[in-house]
Amino acid sequence: MAVDGKVVVITGASSGIGATTAKLLAKNGAKVVLGARREDRLETLVSEIEIAGGTAVYQATDVTKPADSQRLVQLAKDEFGKVDVIFLNAGIMPVSMLSSLRTDEWNQAIDVNIKGVLNGIAAILPTFNEQKSGQVIATSSVAGLKTAPGSAVYSATKFAVKAIMESLRMESATAGTNIRTTTLYPGLINTELIDSVKDPTLKQASQAQYDKLGISPESIAETVKFAVDQPEDTNVSELTIYPTKQA
Ligand code: NDP
Repeated sequence: MAVDGKVVVITGASSGIGATTAKLLAKNGAKVVLGARREDRLETLVSEIEIAGGTAVYQATDVTKPADSQRLVQLAKDEFGKVDVIFLNAGIMPVSMLSSLRTDEWNQAIDVNIKGVLNGIAAILPTFNEQKSGQVIATSSVAGLKTAPGSAVYSATKFAVKAIMESLRMESATAGTNIRTTTLYPGLINTELIDSVKDPTLKQASQAQYDKLGISPESIAETVKFAVDQPEDTNVSELTIYPTKQA
């Protein structure tokens, strides 16, 4: 089953990877249901998709609030009668050295990057179990495969995404619920993610890396489309996408 006609819920849809994926999937016939906190961005994106001939709706969503994720899924069901795919993509990257003790940022990263994914899974699983089909796609990071100085908490949250998604894949396979799971591990992608780095030293260093090596979010959108395009008996469980020049 290709993308055409599928109902796809996307969190973190207001910019970067989420917004670019929404446009690509809508261009290919998906009905996209967009969630993020910046409503003005979502409104503009829905207009752009509609002008291009696609179908999109949005709802202001803070993924750290379980009720918001529930409402986003409900919107998809109310508008389109089903959900085929949920793309749990919302995330922040407040990298800093542990010794800086930016503990509020540690907690924010855990809330958005881990609890946000769990809230999305909790919101969608009853529907996917009832439908006996569905696809959960989540954005981890290459920082979810290997850590680095300054990346302790961000990496921990992205390692957690890997663990959650792999367990979900195994549990679903055993239960025979036909739920597919795809975890994405992107490298440096040029988006607004750098805005969530508040530590000035790390921000400067990260910006230099992006300026040198970063690639377009369209590369990630294409991999999401690839995973969604596969037949129902085929689960693309993990995809790592590096800029060619990133070591
Ligand atoms: P952006 O900053 O452009 O996008 C992040 C998105 O997450 C925005 O739409 C933002 O929307 C949303 N978001 C943040 N906090 C919340 C929240 N509490 N509730 C709902 N939505 C939220 O960056 P990217 O597109 O790069 O990031 C997307 C994902 O990709 C993230 O999970 C990131 O960790 C991951 N990633 C990115 C890489 C990169 O190099 N860019 C590399 C590897 C992984 P809003 O502020 O409107 O709520």
